[in-house]
Amino acid sequence: MMLRTCHVLCSQAGPSAGGWQPLSFDGGAFHLKGTGELTRALLVLRLCAWPPLVTHGLALQAWSRRLLGSRLSGALLRASIYGQFVAGETAEEVKGCVQQLQTLGLRPLLAVPTEEEPDSAVKTGEAWYEGNFSAMLRCVDLSRGILETPGPTGNILMQLKVTALTSTRLCKDLTSWIRKPGASLELSPERLAEAMDSGRDLQVSCLNTQQNQHLQASLSRLHRVAQHARAQHVRLLVDAEYTFLNPALSLLVDALAMRWNGPGEGGPWVWNTYQAYLKDTHERLRRAAEAADRAGLAFGVKLVRGAYLDKEREVARHHGTEDPTQLDYEATSRSYSHCLELMLTHVSHRGPMCHLMVASHNEESVRQATKRMWELGIPLDGPVCFGQLLGMCDHVSLALGQAGYAVYKSIPYGSLEEVIPYLIRRAQENRSVLQGARREQKLLSQELWKRVLGPTPERACPGHVAVMWRSL
Ligand SMILES: Cc1cc2nc3c(=O)[nH]c(=O)nc-3n(C[C@H](O)[C@H](O)[C@H](O)COP(=O)(O)OP(=O)(O)OC[C@H]3O[C@@H](n4cnc5c(N)ncnc54)[C@H](O)[C@@H]3O)c2cc1C
Repeated sequence: MMLRTCHVLCSQAGPSAGGWQPLSFDGGAFHLKGTGELTRALLVLRLCAWPPLVTHGLALQAWSRRLLGSRLSGALLRASIYGQFVAGETAEEVKGCVQQLQTLGLRPLLAVPTEEEPDSAVKTGEAWYEGNFSAMLRCVDLSRGILETPGPTGNILMQLKVTALTSTRLCKDLTSWIRKPGASLELSPERLAEAMDSGRDLQVSCLNTQQNQHLQASLSRLHRVAQHARAQHVRLLVDAEYTFLNPALSLLVDALAMRWNGPGEGGPWVWNTYQAYLKDTHERLRRAAEAADRAGLAFGVKLVRGAYLDKEREVARHHGTEDPTQLDYEATSRSYSHCLELMLTHVSHRGPMCHLMVASHNEESVRQATKRMWELGIPLDGPVCFGQLLGMCDHVSLALGQAGYAVYKSIPYGSLEEVIPYLIRRAQENRSVLQGARREQKLLSQELWKRVLGPTPERACPGHVAVMWRSL
């Protein structure tokens, strides 16, 4: 069976003749973009690599509103950070952005930008989560409706953040309970799946009455989002968050997977995210992949390095517990590489029953994935896809898209007021990524320089481009 699946994949694979041709991430694909877009990208990436801007982003935004007025400061943000990283506010704006991406060979992965739950969410009961629930349903509809040419069924993906639908307090409590021996029977995915499906009351002994009610309401929201997404042929990629929440999030994903990732469903409709910067991720991923295989369930994974490094370490220091994260960047990269290998092998055995998103801006990881896909005979536009953030690493996304791989850009959308705090927090979490975007800046400035002076990239240097802007 395994051999047959592999054979089917091999026969569909892209580059069959000759050796593997590494993709070139040298910015050649920038020719697809306008000069205005490239200039904005360079400016914004430079700004974001400046630590004070990221650290004091929210305060600076408040100051600029006070000094310039909300209209002018809003216009400045729209022309810069918002324009670079956000698709827009209205469905029409998002559609425009997505159509532009499609012409470049890229696909959308919409994400509802939700900030941390406000204190008032606890006090106002379910209202905040119900608001997010409606936003998720609209996001499903938007994901389905924005594509000019949706392509084969099952190509539409969307991100889902569980803590937008259920409180972090509850996820924390469930996580502590899950970690206790013997709790697994009471909190099994089967039991949660049954409660989701039937709508019957679920009583968990470690929770008080109010928490049990909130759990019930959360399960109902998750179930209805998944149901709607399935009906609209939109696959849900559930985000991973902090280690003090992730076990509860995974339990909820497992419950959803039992209902929506069944053998006759056409691949996984609910995916989980695995963070390679955690020491135990490879082992958990291996066990989860095997369990899905045994249960005959489809398995979907978004593989990331992980975004909450500083907070994870701070929490471990604070509680005097072992740091759950890898020792250093190199160890995280090794872990990413092992997880990637594990998943690609798994895809080559299980075919369309196993899907993977290589969600990384890292050129080495992307190169490893494309090489192994070729070696294992995994088709370019099959169960493996790539993911990068809108406005980041276009030299990688464009090169992949032009070569025929399935590439998704994670796209937040919404009003300035909703999105800017979200962006600043993401920038704070991804400081190292923004600082690591230096290569992208160099490639952008080379391309801009080439457009002004003709094709002599060696002459380009960041200082020259700064002079060029001043003289424009
Ligand atoms: C489409 C998409 C979806 C995403 N979804 C999620 C999600 O659900 N959950 C989530 O947590 N993140 C998510 N991320 C963010 C992701 O985890 C990374 O933070 C981000 O992509 C940077 O990693 P990289 O591989 O792209 O780049 P690189 O620059 O190669 O790697 C940077 C990463 O390396 C790790 N790192 C850096 N320094 C150290 C150190 N000293 N010790 C150990 N590790 C270190 C950190 O994880 C850091 O984010 C997502 C990213 C994308 C593109």
